[in-house]
Amino acid sequence: MPNNFTTAVLAVDKKLARRKNLEILQVNLGNVCNQRCLHCHVNAGPGGDKIMSRRIIDDIIMFLSKTKGLVLDITGGCPELNPNFRYIVETARPLVKTVMVRNNLTVLFEPGMEWLPGFYLDNKVKLVCSMPCYTAENVDKQRGEGVFDKSISALKLLNSLGYGREPGLEIDLVYNPGGACLPGAQNALEKDYHQQLSRHGIVFNHLITITNAPINRFKTYLEANNTFDEYMKLLMDNFNREVVTDIMCRNLLSIGWDGVLYDCDFNQALGLSLRDKAGKIMEIRGLRLQDIEDKEIVFEDHCYSCTAGAGSSCKGALAK
Ligand code: SF4
Ligand code: SF4
Repeated sequence: MPNNFTTAVLAVDKKLARRKNLEILQVNLGNVCNQRCLHCHVNAGPGGDKIMSRRIIDDIIMFLSKTKGLVLDITGGCPELNPNFRYIVETARPLVKTVMVRNNLTVLFEPGMEWLPGFYLDNKVKLVCSMPCYTAENVDKQRGEGVFDKSISALKLLNSLGYGREPGLEIDLVYNPGGACLPGAQNALEKDYHQQLSRHGIVFNHLITITNAPINRFKTYLEANNTFDEYMKLLMDNFNREVVTDIMCRNLLSIGWDGVLYDCDFNQALGLSLRDKAGKIMEIRGLRLQDIEDKEIVFEDHCYSCTAGAGSSCKGALAK
């Protein structure tokens, strides 16, 4: 029997439960991170032991060379801490439309990472940086003591290189709520961020709002506060049929550290892999576009976080 979310999507339009053309390849380089944030849906931290190997990266490069013009969205954990990070960026660069890295800002100041800002600049990497608030109190509460000050220093450094100021050097910031609520309106929040961060002399391109998915570390946090059921109800009560057409799993493919394929990063975090007609787990090795096009998406009830209110995706709110 289909779960509640699948039933809700099918009621809007049957075709929305299937993948369409691939536009974004999202690669998760592993779960090592220099931070250990409360809301982290991949349970990343300094003790992470899942690290994408060079062999899997070569499988990805092979796929990109046969499927040119995609957006390559590199994530983690903290992707820059994977020893093959430079290799994937430099090798994929000529094959893709954009290389985008999800960056936590503080990694710029980790020992041995001094090369990173110049590397971004040389490779014209688009940066999508976590910045869940413009106040030190909220950022440090969610992401750890001292993270706000380091994030401000990192943004100043990137601005000094031209990020947020020059064409082709884009930097977006990511907001996600600190607790069991939906994000505020993206446009209004973006204005607030521009205003507040300009006090520090910081500029950026866009603000992306993301709804926390009720899984892994955030789920544990909700359960510890007895708010899991309440949060699920909030997501379900705010199901917005207008945004279902644009849920990111329809044009994004997510690749795990071990090369396994998923519809998105959340499904990856839950181990909900893509399977072929014989039920075998699908991997990037030898993948052809036709193997995934029009494939049924694996939905479960955490998916309500993508369709609540203005909707949510790796590119922010979905409502036009
Ligand atoms: S949310 Fe990002 S920065 Fe925080 S622990 Fe997870 S991967 Fe690291
Ligand atoms: S959680 Fe993933 S599979 Fe579910 S709707 Fe969101 S993007 Fe699609």
